[in-house]
Amino acid sequence: MNDFQELYQEIILDHYKRPRNSGRVGGDGTAKVHENPNCGDSLKLEVGIDDEGKISGVIIDVHGCAISVASASMMTEYLEGKTVEEARSDADRFVKAMRGEDGDITFDSWGDLAALSGVIHFPLRVKCATLAWHAVKEELGTN
Ligand code: ZN
Repeated sequence: MNDFQELYQEIILDHYKRPRNSGRVGGDGTAKVHENPNCGDSLKLEVGIDDEGKISGVIIDVHGCAISVASASMMTEYLEGKTVEEARSDADRFVKAMRGEDGDITFDSWGDLAALSGVIHFPLRVKCATLAWHAVKEELGTN
């Protein structure tokens, strides 16, 4: 492992052990459960939107592997303050990048999420990394 990989590993483990913005979602049982059956990851989330149409916060209730939990945790930090439109397009870009479909993408502007860039080489784990992003898109709707 080189230094970068070690650093990335540490960032992922840190988010896994202490997921940011984690809490109970949908105590009334109405929240949708998003699942990645391949790995057993499951996630519920709640998106808060302020008067200006910006994301005031994302709460996650996630159980699963380190990649799925870390990605969800990092996503909550990344999306805070973005408009709904920006969040949708970020989610699209992230999913494409993880699938290796976006040849031009660099992870420089993604903050902690750059730590997940190595997942591209592990196709079975891509669904773990993208679970939260598919979920947030679904919650935000398409218009
Ligand atoms: Zn997983």
